Amino acid sequence: MPLYEFRCTDGTTFEAAHSMVEVPDSLNCPDCGAPARRRISPPRLSIAGTAAYSLIDATKRSAHSPAVVSSPGPGKPGRQRAYSPNPLHQKLPRQ
Ligand SMILES: [Zn+2]
Repeated sequence: MPLYEFRCTDGTTFEAAHSMVEVPDSLNCPDCGAPARRRISPPRLSIAGTAAYSLIDATKRSAHSPAVVSSPGPGKPGRQRAYSPNPLHQKLPRQ
């Protein structure tokens, strides 16, 4: 049975397993007893980490519609941007 996510008005989120035919739109919260609405959440089809899957999704997306910019973003003209925002990296020798 798939897991469904519910959230009450207090913000408590809990999961409950129901069959896809019998899943209710709301359940009573185990903490406060208030009706908790079913949330729309992505199905957990894999145990892989979300970081790995977000990378896979980004790679698939960039293959079909790569993010192309038409102009550089807004910035101060005449001043070259640092490569890294970390101040410790400023002390490293430049190429
Ligand atoms: Zn609650």
